[in-house]
Parts: sequence; structure tokens; C-alpha cells
Amino acid sequence: MDLSIDAGTLQRLEGIRALGASQIRPLGLEADRLGRPTPPEHPFFEMLVKAGMGRTRWGGETGGTTPGAPRAKVGSSRTTLCLAEEMSYWDRGVAVSFPGPGLGEPPLISMGTEDQKRRFLGPFADPDRARWGSFAMTEPGAGSDVAGIRASARREGNVWILNGAKSFAANASRADWIVVWATVDPSLGREGHRAFVVENGTPGVGDFQVERKMGLKAYESTSFSLVDCRVPAENLIGGEEHYARRAGFKGAMRSFNATRPLVAVMAVGIGRAALDAAAEFSEQTGLIGDQRIRDRLERVRRKLRSARLLCWRAAWLADYGRPNILEASIAKAAAPMAALEAASLGMEILGEIGGRGDHLIEKLYRDVKAMDIVEGTGQVQRLVMARQLVQLPRD
Ligand SMILES: Cc1cc2nc3c(=O)[nH]c(=O)nc-3n(C[C@H](O)[C@H](O)[C@H](O)COP(=O)(O)OP(=O)(O)OC[C@H]3O[C@@H](n4cnc5c(N)ncnc54)[C@H](O)[C@@H]3O)c2cc1C
Repeated sequence: MDLSIDAGTLQRLEGIRALGASQIRPLGLEADRLGRPTPPEHPFFEMLVKAGMGRTRWGGETGGTTPGAPRAKVGSSRTTLCLAEEMSYWDRGVAVSFPGPGLGEPPLISMGTEDQKRRFLGPFADPDRARWGSFAMTEPGAGSDVAGIRASARREGNVWILNGAKSFAANASRADWIVVWATVDPSLGREGHRAFVVENGTPGVGDFQVERKMGLKAYESTSFSLVDCRVPAENLIGGEEHYARRAGFKGAMRSFNATRPLVAVMAVGIGRAALDAAAEFSEQTGLIGDQRIRDRLERVRRKLRSARLLCWRAAWLADYGRPNILEASIAKAAAPMAALEAASLGMEILGEIGGRGDHLIEKLYRDVKAMDIVEGTGQVQRLVMARQLVQLPRD
């Protein structure tokens, strides 16, 4: 496994550092203070699109040679992880609010037909405006146990009729489309799952409510309902054949295994920000002269760096199409814990200044907790790992 970072990525990291200090961090602090996400019409998003961001990793019909539509090539995840970590260093909430197909993209790339990729990812190849995609699996009664989703899908002629409620879907109310998971028969468990692209404005999808969150306030996590929502049959991701091969749940899990290292490395970014805040304060106050403080700071740095390598390893395996369930879970279990330790140490070192509620460290402390919840909680990752350890069947 090659651990080098190529010159192009280093250059892009420099760009993110500049953007981070001038815009990403200030926008994150502002959203946190106001308690609401950055609105979709904010000029920041148009600026990002003009700067070439918010694009799909899908290669397009031409195989990715079109400018602005780079193919998701083997080994490319290193760059994605480096950039995601750096953006999260400046503000993870703002990073998730960036335009782009988001978590809806992996299932479309891995399961979608060529026509679906063209229709739904094509507009993200060279977007004319800020566009978002969204991913909705979680429901008020189904989070960790995704097999328990109750949103229903019933076919009637050339349409599917969806009913149910979804929650915590990132960027859902501003999205061009939402990848919605529903079941044709709850008694089938994961085998009954189907994924649909529900386009913005489809009658029956609505009642969007931005959730109140303790942290990461710069992006919207949104609940919504589906009431007799009629979705064209051609929006069933992968078509009927895909599910006839009993691949529904495997499709969802494949996308999780590609995205868990990405979410985990974002925690590393938040942890680095907390560590820097703690180290800076220690230097300013002379606390750094205490060997016990230096030892604790160094220990956190070591854990963050180890966690980053775990993320890179899990992503590298996915790049090469190798099984990475164990590695993705290890990375996802380890990185948020290291980052939480960094934020917690920062709160201790800053003492009452940290606890006052107007210092970055306090915001990072609230932001970082969600990283242990999203994309599978720490407990669930440990279940996955333990099953692998003793080779238990999955259920
Ligand atoms: C900031 C944020 C953003 C999110 N974004 C999205 C999104 O874009 N799209 C989306 O679909 N979802 C999203 N989610 C939802 C997220 O995936 C769920 O919150 C997560 O899967 C946990 O589900 P839950 O909250 O219902 O907790 P539950 O599943 O009810 O779990 C509650 C607690 O019990 C523990 N637990 C559950 N089962 C077990 C078990 N078998 N053994 C041991 N412990 C267990 C859990 O670890 C947790 O601590 C987001 C959540 C947050 C907080």
C-alpha cells in the first residue's frame, strides 16, 4: 500500500487550508451560533461550484475523460480522504453541506443502471448551479438495525408507491433527489429492501423538518414523509433484476463499506482541530512546560495518526475491490474515539475557558460526538468486528 500523497493532492490541500481559514471555519461558527444550517442560496455554494467542487466521481458515458467528470479510479480514495479530513479540520458541518451527490452517489455508482447514472449523476458532472443529492435509510424507528425499516414500496403498473417516514437525511430538503430505502415486505428483512431515487417535487414527498442537533449545525439533517409518493419504475436503482439476484441489502452495505472510512477520517480532522486548539492554549499559557500535559497531547496525536492509517487502509481495500468489512469497522470504531479523546482533553486543558461556551473547543466537543453515531455507531462496529473474530453468522 502506497502511503504517499501526490503533488496534485498536496496542492488541493493547500487550497482547502486557505478556504478553511477564510470561509469554512467562520461559516461553521456562524451556523453554530445561529443554530441553523447555512442556507442553500448562500453565495459560498455557488463559489464552490465555480471552483470545480460538488462534482460526481462517476466517470460519465465517455469513461471520465471529459473535463470536470473524472472517473472514480483505483486508488483515488486517498485523495478523497485527505481532502475530507482537511475540510473537517476546518468545519465538518460545513464540509457535509458542500454541494454534490453526497451519500446518494455510492449506491447509484455500485448498483445503478447506466441510464440512472446518466440521469441522476450526469447533472453533477459539470453542474450549472449548486446541486445536492441525499441518502435516506434511517427512520424514527430504525437506525442501527436497518433491516427494521418500515417505509413501504408497492408496485402498481409502471410506478412504485412509497409510504413512510425518514429521518436525519443529510441535505434532503435542498436535494435534487434522495436515494430512499423502502421495503416490499418487512417480513423479508434485508431481502425486501429496495432503493429508489425520489426526485425533488415528486408529489407525496414532503413535510421536510430540519432536526435540532447538538453539533454539526452547518448542514441540515432532515426528516420527511412519503405519502402515496408515486415514483416511476425506472427510478428503482438497478432495476428489478438487481434485486432478483437478492442483492438489495448487499448493495446498501457495499456503499457503507466505501463510506465508513470516509466518515471515520472526518473524525480525525475534527480531532486534529481539537488537538491544535489544546496545544495552542498550552503554549500560550505556559502549560506546555508540564511534561504530563505534553505526554497527553502527544498520546492523542499518536492515536489520531494511527486512526488515519486505519482509514486509508480500509479505503485502499475498497479501491481494489477487496473485502474490507472488518477494516472499515475498525477504522470507524477507532477514529471517533481518538477524536473524542482529543476534544475531551482540550476541554480539560482549557478548563473554564472551554466550558464557557464561546470557544472553538466547546463546539468541537459537541461536533465530534455525532461521528460515533453516523454510518453505524461504535457499538455496532464492535458487533461487526466481534462476529468476524469468532466467525459467527451475521444474524
Ligand atoms: C448527525 C447525524 C447525521 C446523520 N445522517 C444520516 C443520513 O444522511 N442518512 C441516514 O439515513 N441516516 C443518517 N443518520 C442516522 C444514523 O445513521 C443513525 O442515527 C444511526 O444509525 C443510529 O441509529 P439510531 O439513532 O436510531 O440509534 P439506535 O439504533 O436506536 O441505537 C441506540 C443505541 O443503542 C445501541 N445499539 C443499537 N443496537 C445495538 C446492538 N445490537 N448491540 C449493542 N448496542 C446497540 C446503539 O449503538 C446506540 O448507542 C444521521 C445521524 C446523525 C446523528
